[in-house]
Amino acid sequence: MTDTAPDAAPRSSTFTLRSPATGAPLAEHPVDGPEEVARAVARARQVQAGWAALSAPRRRAHLLRWKRALASDLDAVARTIAEETGKPAGDAALEVVLTLEHLGWAARNADRVLGRRRVRTGLFTVHQRAWLTHRPVGVVGVIGPWNYPCYTPMGSVGYALAAGNAVVLKPSELTPGTGLLLAELFDRAVPAHAGLLTVVTGAAATGEALARSGIDKLAFTGSPGTARKVMAVCAETLTPFLAECGGKDAVIVTADADLDAAADAIVWGALSNAGQTCAGVERVYAVREIHADLCERVVRRAGALRPGADGDAHYGPMTLPGQIATVERHVTDAVSSGARAVLGGPESVRAPFVAPVVLTSVPEESAAMTEETFGPVVAVNAVADVDEAVARANDSRYALGAAVFCGSRRTGAAIAARLRAGAVSVNSVLGFAAVPALPFGGSGDSGFGRIHGAEGLRAFTAVQSTTVQRFAPPVALTSFEVPAATRERAVRLARALHLRH
Ligand code: NAD
Repeated sequence: MTDTAPDAAPRSSTFTLRSPATGAPLAEHPVDGPEEVARAVARARQVQAGWAALSAPRRRAHLLRWKRALASDLDAVARTIAEETGKPAGDAALEVVLTLEHLGWAARNADRVLGRRRVRTGLFTVHQRAWLTHRPVGVVGVIGPWNYPCYTPMGSVGYALAAGNAVVLKPSELTPGTGLLLAELFDRAVPAHAGLLTVVTGAAATGEALARSGIDKLAFTGSPGTARKVMAVCAETLTPFLAECGGKDAVIVTADADLDAAADAIVWGALSNAGQTCAGVERVYAVREIHADLCERVVRRAGALRPGADGDAHYGPMTLPGQIATVERHVTDAVSSGARAVLGGPESVRAPFVAPVVLTSVPEESAAMTEETFGPVVAVNAVADVDEAVARANDSRYALGAAVFCGSRRTGAAIAARLRAGAVSVNSVLGFAAVPALPFGGSGDSGFGRIHGAEGLRAFTAVQSTTVQRFAPPVALTSFEVPAATRERAVRLARALHLRH
């Protein structure tokens, strides 16, 4: 997706960022190369030592101060997000609010999750005291996307800092200003540890330099194609890698579901942020008896929405110009292979905007059902029953999020448990994204590893296991001085015990 980056020439020392809505220049940013990236990583490494040495309450206090600074400057951050992505100001503000929720949770829970934990010893190790601790990995590289330029990278940045690391962030070349503002606010709120969060700007080459820079872990969010390339670079140095990639999320609607609630959630999940949401709704499987009714309600709601750059628009332009062709291809191909456009169609694509498109009877093998569309398009297909809905939802190379709408919460949860998805919401969409304690991530082309929650804190640590010998062992087995007969008796005893259980 980055090949259509705005004016990002590899040999120039700056690039021009343009508004996706108007094309007007917004700012000039440096194209950081391997040298600048190496300097940022070296500085981060220096600052990290002092940060990791802080007591947990001190670190928490610093992070909460940063959170308050973000809350206080919410309007400025939201304005930058809105300018760079083109999304409405209200959506940008909501993105910052979600970020604050996560940052607060990471700051407050890091010690509980990562603090020293004692474990039981075994029969032959009663003389040992044993515990595990989570040590920060050191310097974490974060490569971010543009669609949620604050919330998404902060899902790694906030948790990595709370775990005691420094971070070098490379925001998307479409949204560098948001990343820079986050770091600036950190430095202002926590001047004693300024430089703990550093931003490098640029496109693919800057990201590649970061992957090569000797960082201790790389958290990547973006498309699966780019993830493969970045992972190959990380493989050269065995740099651990975490991949949060795209999705093709399905919603299942059962016969007894509240259809108004389902339609409302489907339309929001599919069209908010112009459909540019990794865990946005792209496929709906509704059982046949309510399919027509659901379609009618979805079309009525979606038909009332309008993209635009003005304050009244429901969503903004396509942020990445190159994605418009993908959306157009998916819609055109679906319609020419037998799908019915019940709202909009190929004519809905009027760059840089795409009006809502609702498709039905979309062939399962068409690109609109198999590839990430990442635009304001939703396919609502009929299925015979819940079993078919589950099978179709799971038949995707992506496995990120999903949702179930069902009259019974218990049955909804049972259907959720059958879905091969990293996160599922019952009777809402994207419910999981606003619960910081819930890990987020997928499998297959949606990536691997988890951000958010306890797993998201542990993701940026290395476990250290420790034993401290309390007294001499009753049967010393790890010594050349042990007589052979003692060792044999111990083996016989262990064998007898293991045969009993
Ligand atoms: P992208 O893959 O084009 O770029 C992602 C980032 O990688 C950018 O910062 C880019 O500059 C960088 N990059 C590109 N080529 C690189 C290379 N060779 N080496 C190192 N870095 C490189 O993705 P995008 O268009 O920015 O974002 C959209 C994608 O992100 C969608 O697929 C979306 O579903 C996904 N996404 C996933 C999540 C999630 O949490 N799972 C969240 C948001 C977006």
